[in-house]
Amino acid sequence: MDSSLLLTLERQGLCVPTLERRNDEHNLPLPFKGRAGVGMGETGTHSGKWSLIGKYFRLRAGSCMILAMPDFDNKTSDSIVVRQDVPLAPFTSFRIGGAARFFTTAGSLDQLRQSLLFARREGLPFCILGGGTNLLISDQGFDGVAIRMQLEEVQVSGNRIEAQAGVDLMELIRRTAELGLSGMESLAGIPGSVGGAVRGNAGAYGSCMADVTERVLALHAQSLELLSLEPGECAFQYRDSRFKRDPSLVVVSALLSLSPGDPGEVRQKMEATVARREARQLQCDLSAGSFFMNPVVTDPELIRRFETDQGVRCRECRIPAGWLIDQAGLRSTRVGGAMVNPRHANYLVNTGDASAEEMVRLASLVKRRVRDELGVVLREEVSSLGFTSESPRGQGC
Ligand SMILES: Cc1cc2nc3c(=O)[nH]c(=O)nc-3n(C[C@H](O)[C@H](O)[C@H](O)COP(=O)(O)OP(=O)(O)OC[C@H]3O[C@@H](n4cnc5c(N)ncnc54)[C@H](O)[C@@H]3O)c2cc1C
Repeated sequence: MDSSLLLTLERQGLCVPTLERRNDEHNLPLPFKGRAGVGMGETGTHSGKWSLIGKYFRLRAGSCMILAMPDFDNKTSDSIVVRQDVPLAPFTSFRIGGAARFFTTAGSLDQLRQSLLFARREGLPFCILGGGTNLLISDQGFDGVAIRMQLEEVQVSGNRIEAQAGVDLMELIRRTAELGLSGMESLAGIPGSVGGAVRGNAGAYGSCMADVTERVLALHAQSLELLSLEPGECAFQYRDSRFKRDPSLVVVSALLSLSPGDPGEVRQKMEATVARREARQLQCDLSAGSFFMNPVVTDPELIRRFETDQGVRCRECRIPAGWLIDQAGLRSTRVGGAMVNPRHANYLVNTGDASAEEMVRLASLVKRRVRDELGVVLREEVSSLGFTSESPRGQGC
């Protein structure tokens, strides 16, 4: 078995002695004495701790089964570990959802490619998990391959930062402050990963990821080709991008272009943004942030009502979904453990034991009431996973 696979297993807290020892103890078939991926047998189950099923080593560890998959076609150097029936709720800010049939971690581009190949060979959909802060997973879980994005390198060159998709956005913004690079201060406090932020063109207080993104590297899930996309090719719009519309594109990294600034000033602006968010007391709730996008409203009377009520002009004819939900009298409305946040009506929260079904029923109720009472159709900002039959080769969310 190749050493990286052994290391990966060991990092997961599994006792992996040496292949030879396992062979002695469990009498594994001979081909497994070689490097993983070489001479894979076709069949065989084994009664010991380790067994072989089809192309994989299988290891039972507690309630979780690990399929250790060697490098496909001996073309790559990194192996991946595929776990089975992994609960996904802990990977989301909602803390809701069932298990993934398969679960892998992509800590390198090679591992990402292999995870996608694994999904394709199993004929299953895949889904990328970033920080899980904008994701509602069904109670039935995901009958596919959930790939946790852990590409976490950051490279700085002058005013430019190349950040890989798994980098925590807030950590990155702290780093920009240390470096005295300005441009992302208003995004401080948005949880999740760089990849998730690029895909959803995350934004706050008048700034968004598109403002600083100079280029995106994306892996095409079918061709496994790496594409370098200019901003014009990313089709960024309000909470939208090409990556959202084409789920076969997996964001691998983003080149961000910032302006030189004074480290103290950048830090101050960043901290002011975080303080402003914390004052709203929303950061610690079990939510996915704004559940709905702010809709474009065409009714001049409704716009006038909003502007008078809030004392602000509406931007690009968009009215905050939270204000509309509030106007429909839905603050604090509950369906089971799911509730419209009393402090911010566009935050639907899990009060502790909400199911995905309750959250969906609450969201439907909100949409229906806002449509019936104000004539506005709300669209979800939150991504969902595992609710409908997934396409066999596409991304499941
Ligand atoms: C308290 C709170 C406050 C929030 N405030 C804001 C805010 O002010 N502004 C805002 O815009 N959002 C906000 N959000 C929502 C959320 O933080 C952002 O949408 C964030 O960018 C999501 O990133 P993520 O890594 O968590 O994505 P995830 O939730 O992991 O994934 C969301 C979707 O993106 C896909 N995805 C993730 N990574 C990749 C990738 N590398 N390539 C392709 N697809 C990918 C997933 O498959 C999924 O469909 C908030 C959320 C919370 C909980």
